[in-house]
Amino acid sequence: MASTVLLASGSGDEARAVAEVIAAGRSAASRHWVPATSGNFSVRIDAERIAITRSGVDKGALQSADILIQPLNTPLLPRSSAEAPLHVALYRQHPEIGAIFHAHSPAATVLSRLAEPAGRILLTGWELQKALSGVRTHEAIVEVPVFANEQDTDALATRVEARMAETGSAFHPAPGYLLSGHGLYAWGGTSADAARHLEALEALFEFELSYRRFTP
Ligand SMILES: [Zn+2]
Repeated sequence: MASTVLLASGSGDEARAVAEVIAAGRSAASRHWVPATSGNFSVRIDAERIAITRSGVDKGALQSADILIQPLNTPLLPRSSAEAPLHVALYRQHPEIGAIFHAHSPAATVLSRLAEPAGRILLTGWELQKALSGVRTHEAIVEVPVFANEQDTDALATRVEARMAETGSAFHPAPGYLLSGHGLYAWGGTSADAARHLEALEALFEFELSYRRFTP
């Protein structure tokens, strides 16, 4: 019940972050992107803390008590998701990230397996690419990294950090990455940006999956 206690004495920023996590979870659930309690959602409160969904809850029925207030520089709280290290590592590495949303949609899960040998998906020719921060034209090539899935999420977080350090930017090559056979992590400077990136990437993966059925 630690999160409830923290919330009761918390700031307006905490309440805002918790409300945004709940809204993101419900939105993803309504689109069938988080089946069977999968996925997780987090929003930065300040430089030192995030609000993040706890383990094993239906993301379409989130309550305030399901959201943990996790400091970025302490061990994970009891009831944390097994994938919380992936969130914490990104927030620590990139102060410009304000929200991270993770879903297990069918399109992302299937396409990531097809793309795992290449280690990336190259998106080009789609007008919707312009919904991603910094992309100005459908002619741009957006590279979405694809990592092999891994149950050791600390080790996986290290691999993700190393790949992102190559560009030095949280939003390039893309504001997200795929885990093969698993799903999509997407983020943004704000919850609204993260939600737009999640929705755009999910749609782009559906486009790409359909397109590949008709092309060699
Ligand atoms: Zn997951």
